[in-house]
Amino acid sequence: MNNQGRPTTPAAIAANGNAPETMSGSKALNQVEKLIFEVGTPQNTGVDLPAPKGGASRLGAHARQGEIGLPGLSEPETMRHYVRLSQQNYAIDLGVYPLGSCTMKHNPRLNEKIARMPGFADVHPLQPVQTKQGALEVMYDLSHWLMTLCNMPAVALTPKAGAHGELCGMMAIRARLDADGETHRRRVLVPESAHGTNPATAVQCGFNVDEIPANDKGRVDMTALRAKLAEKSDDIAGIMLTNPNTCGLFENDIIEIADLIHQAGGYFYCDGANFNALVGRVRPGDLGVDAMHINLHKTFSTPHGGGGPGSGPTVLSDALKDYAPVPYVVKSDNGFDLVEHVEGEAAASFGRMCAFHGNMGMYTRALSYMMSHGSDGLKQATEDAVLNANYVQASLSDVMTTAFDGTCMHEALFDDRFLKDTGVETLDFAKAMIDEGYHPMTMYFPLVVHGAMLIEPTESESKQELDRFIRSMRHLAAKAKAGESEMFKAAPIHAPLRRLDETRAARKPVLRWTPPEDLLDAAE
Ligand SMILES: *Cc1c(COP(=O)(O)O)cnc(C)c1O
Repeated sequence: MNNQGRPTTPAAIAANGNAPETMSGSKALNQVEKLIFEVGTPQNTGVDLPAPKGGASRLGAHARQGEIGLPGLSEPETMRHYVRLSQQNYAIDLGVYPLGSCTMKHNPRLNEKIARMPGFADVHPLQPVQTKQGALEVMYDLSHWLMTLCNMPAVALTPKAGAHGELCGMMAIRARLDADGETHRRRVLVPESAHGTNPATAVQCGFNVDEIPANDKGRVDMTALRAKLAEKSDDIAGIMLTNPNTCGLFENDIIEIADLIHQAGGYFYCDGANFNALVGRVRPGDLGVDAMHINLHKTFSTPHGGGGPGSGPTVLSDALKDYAPVPYVVKSDNGFDLVEHVEGEAAASFGRMCAFHGNMGMYTRALSYMMSHGSDGLKQATEDAVLNANYVQASLSDVMTTAFDGTCMHEALFDDRFLKDTGVETLDFAKAMIDEGYHPMTMYFPLVVHGAMLIEPTESESKQELDRFIRSMRHLAAKAKAGESEMFKAAPIHAPLRRLDETRAARKPVLRWTPPEDLLDAAE
């Protein structure tokens, strides 16, 4: 049997002493499924087309020499293959998805319905603008909502993810510095708890990263920051700060931080991935932010997590708005237009971030989400997200150890002190959550907290769902304390796949299926 890509087959489970009780290895609805290459064969085909007419091939030396080797399946086989796989997958539509820093929340079906309306779904970027006025209006209205919620004068819609939005904001900062002849300003301050994309973006834009330490309350160490700026500030390009930060805490000194950076001649980039905790309650523009990306796929509801499309609109302050990338939407007496080029002396735009106008489907979903909630509903979602996180934190703080004292914002952060001397580590605890039927929380991030477990329930979980989740977590914490480390080390035992060799997967990834010998022999 070919084991490629499936190190924990039923045989391996059997060898491990947890023999499946079924002949097939399937557990009722949870069906064992082989790789598609093993299910299908190149000899089969699901379609039956007549041989192409049209005379001799003109491919010459480029014509394929051997078989293409793709697996062939009938339509029902293909359907079953993917449905079976999908049933082995965890999903937000299945249960609580507590991944911190990711805002995995319910995505109202209304948004999906609207995004699939042909006028939005089938719009082509090269259509004449007169034929896509409605789509442009959606983009214009979405911009209005984003600028209003942030109290910022401009927004670049085109960035296609949070990290892409960071790139947009930092390129705008760099363009402004260059325009002012401040090319020596190349140092960007980044707190040590930052998401990895922050320092990566700064370096990508040609800046040097200078880390600022956190204090024992999980926030920027102001003494260290002041000392850093007092020592040298004429090379400061700016700061990249997440608020609420990746410890799930509001940066209380944020206004002073903004003032200090501005006095030093730098700009304030805010990582807005945690905007879910602020919408309707705090406007980043009021905090002195110069640029901030918003993950529409987190805060404003688009299914994400599978590497699917995202959208990272970036709001810009007065100081940066002229440097915004093209294209952008404008409204005139003749309707809406897409500005593709800026010309003349005032043209300061740093350029273009993608070929066209960005991810239309995300714009439609986000606007549908905003309009169906209304401004009061968005505010309530924020408050419920923070309430839910604090409910989880309060309900677990006697059996797990919270990383920092006090209330949290939209996510609860625990460390691994409660596992001390139990033989159970954060990773084992996470694997045991899989057996309980939950996707694990974010682990080992942020790096500043030892064995971190970051839980973001979001506003869309009911009290019943949260209580169910909390019961499982309390149960696991009790088992760890009772010394049942073997159960943890073996987990997950009920999942379709057991523990993977993560080191080998990272170091020697098998990314390509190669036919087993007997198949090769048969082809010859
Ligand atoms: C998700 C996230 C990002 C990056 O966003 P992508 O859309 O995944 O590129 C950046 N910073 C923080 C804090 C995040 O949670």
